[in-house]
Amino acid sequence: MTKKKRNEFPVSIRKKVMKRAGNRCDRCWSKRDLEYHHKIPVSMGGDSSIENCIVLCHNCHSIAPSDPFLLEKFFLRFASIKEMIQYYNVNDEKEVMKSFSREIGVKYKDFKKFIKEDPMSHISSIKQGMRKFVDIFGHSGFNIPYGYNYIEQRLKINSKESNVVKDIYRWYVNGKSICEIVKMLNYSKIPSKKEGLWAKKTISKILKNPIYCGYHRFEEKIYKGNPPKIIDLESYKKVQSIIEEKGGIPKIYNFN
Ligand SMILES: [Zn+2]
Repeated sequence: MTKKKRNEFPVSIRKKVMKRAGNRCDRCWSKRDLEYHHKIPVSMGGDSSIENCIVLCHNCHSIAPSDPFLLEKFFLRFASIKEMIQYYNVNDEKEVMKSFSREIGVKYKDFKKFIKEDPMSHISSIKQGMRKFVDIFGHSGFNIPYGYNYIEQRLKINSKESNVVKDIYRWYVNGKSICEIVKMLNYSKIPSKKEGLWAKKTISKILKNPIYCGYHRFEEKIYKGNPPKIIDLESYKKVQSIIEEKGGIPKIYNFN
């Protein structure tokens, strides 16, 4: 028996999603070379549910942004420049970008730095563009990490949450297991970001996220950015080596 790929959608889901899409690409309506796509990537916690699955043709699939925010708010809505111009009822691409930046609450002046010329050609290279987006706006517009608030297009430290992040790192370095940390947090009734109980996965993600030492992660590469640091680089590295010692998979990056 072959091992099933972890991120593959089950057949029953695929059938329903294909039916929902009418055997066409959810973006451009092409009927050819259809593939299944995660709206929220597995690396960002996306699951194999019907809500997280869309149908894309091979072309659209190959240029789809990995950022769920841009995917939903831009990429899936328009398959051509003409469509964008018609939707916003404007005259040209520049006005489309003005309308779009207003829509997502980003100043056009800032957004312009991100999108320089033809927006469609930019969308084609949106994967590269995301790095710039992250640089300019402080994060990718989705999934605000625990420990931060998102104010005026920047990540700002949330003092209560950032103290919890510091505790989590300190406890782990001092020998507590992820399980014990989960219990400690839930026992002391400290809410998680979504006001719910803490889970092992959440703690593991926090321990492996380089954002806490001032680095953005995008597509498994890191960039020194502008997120305010919550922990120092040494603690981050120390935690990764403990994860490795315990037989886990650490997130070791090439920090410059
Ligand atoms: Zn398509």
